[in-house]
Amino acid sequence: MLRSVFARCACVTDNVKIPIYSCRLAGSFALPLTRPYIRHAMSHTPLMTIPGQTDPVPVARDITPRADGRIDLIGLPKLRIAELFAEAGLDAKQAKLRAKQVFHWLYHRGVTDFAAMTDIAKTMRPWLAERFVIGRPEVVEAQHSTDGTRKWLLQTADGHEFEMVFIPDADRGTLCVSSQVGCTLNCRFCHTGTMKLVRNLTPGEIVGQVMLARDALGEWPKGAMDFAEEESEAEYRADGRLLTNIVMMGMGEPLYNFDNVRDALRLVMDGEGLALSKRRITLSTSGVVPMMDRCGEEIGVNLAVSLHAVTKEIRDEIVPINKKYGLEELLAACAAYPGASNARRITFEYVMLKDKNDTDDHARELVRLIKQYNLPAKVNLIPFNPWPGAPYECSTPERVRAFSNIVFEAGISAPVRTPRGRDIDAACGQLKTAAQKKSRAERDREAAAAVAATTQEAAG
Ligand code: SAH
Ligand code: SF4
Repeated sequence: MLRSVFARCACVTDNVKIPIYSCRLAGSFALPLTRPYIRHAMSHTPLMTIPGQTDPVPVARDITPRADGRIDLIGLPKLRIAELFAEAGLDAKQAKLRAKQVFHWLYHRGVTDFAAMTDIAKTMRPWLAERFVIGRPEVVEAQHSTDGTRKWLLQTADGHEFEMVFIPDADRGTLCVSSQVGCTLNCRFCHTGTMKLVRNLTPGEIVGQVMLARDALGEWPKGAMDFAEEESEAEYRADGRLLTNIVMMGMGEPLYNFDNVRDALRLVMDGEGLALSKRRITLSTSGVVPMMDRCGEEIGVNLAVSLHAVTKEIRDEIVPINKKYGLEELLAACAAYPGASNARRITFEYVMLKDKNDTDDHARELVRLIKQYNLPAKVNLIPFNPWPGAPYECSTPERVRAFSNIVFEAGISAPVRTPRGRDIDAACGQLKTAAQKKSRAERDREAAAAVAATTQEAAG
């Protein structure tokens, strides 16, 4: 159990927009959840057994138990819904038919009330509502940046808080989704100091983030009750499709919650469900090597790897999972990643830490390794977001540029993430520690001071 991090960087790269927690310098988000949240959360739910720097364990829970005994259907696949309907008394044929209809309403139409399921008999709808619910994570706080970036502090039914961020851009909109409350790993540049891993998010809590974002953006198809195949493409896209991409880069290590992340993303990718292409989904891992192959085989999304260093010594220090799965093993797993190709490159995330991993030699070694392993790669350079007490500083803008140039001149794309959502980032980084105790004016003063400091740092 360690410090977790969630640096979400609302940043834009050439093909992935990536929230990184705690990226104040870069103008990205600083979202450290802190002790008050954890104490509150832990008082509700016993800790689950979660692996630390060990291999993942299967997590059986697919449903968050509710006090009223009803079952939340969100997060469940069609077959499981049919099973539950049969257990509740429907005969097998009815259960299957109703599950198909309900699945469509839940994931494709986004309805949150059984009463709106107009192709289901009127008498059947209260029967469903007595036994089941259509859940969404509860919104504790929603913030809107002047640049359009939106951030939500969410809460599970049993009281755990976590976050998601939406980053709109001219040609796409990216949702940064959390996979765990906290994180077992303790990458040293990642802020959360006091936050332990509380628990894995369930499939419903993961897919629920995407559904909530669609609710907030008004992006559910508005057609009649017909099934997807009867909809015209134009009707489906009428709302503008603001949410086009998903990155599993919120709180937590998604490959340490593999089953739930896979099940949630299957619902997101299901053509009869949320119907988002796997090419528009990117999963970021700190390097859980034994799960990478399964990620490619069973989920098939784009892969991003938090590389951050090119020598054992430095990576051991800043991404400690490297002591378990070393650089060679990690790069070999990347080379073998199912589906990776020049058209679907692996993204290597590289946080720029002053006097730590940012020299010309490091850049040259990065190029050498990518070539040695023949990796279809692109590199995302992430300006480090400093947080109080952090053991590192961000590299200077000149250093970041020099590093980027070396990689770029070797023929590998190496964009620097563009800051987004600076105003709400700075404010959130401050207010998460004691939000309840501070007045609005105090928060605003702190936010203004943080933005000023950030601007100075970035300029200097
Ligand atoms: N656990 C996963 C995904 C979540 S972290 C992973 O580690 O890949 C998403 C990205 O933010 C990772 O690349 C992570 O290394 C980066 N990150 C974390 N803290 C940061 C900070 N303070 N500044 C910049 N990037 C950070
Ligand atoms: Fe942060 Fe990701 Fe490392 Fe966890 S694995 S500590 S979320 S960078």
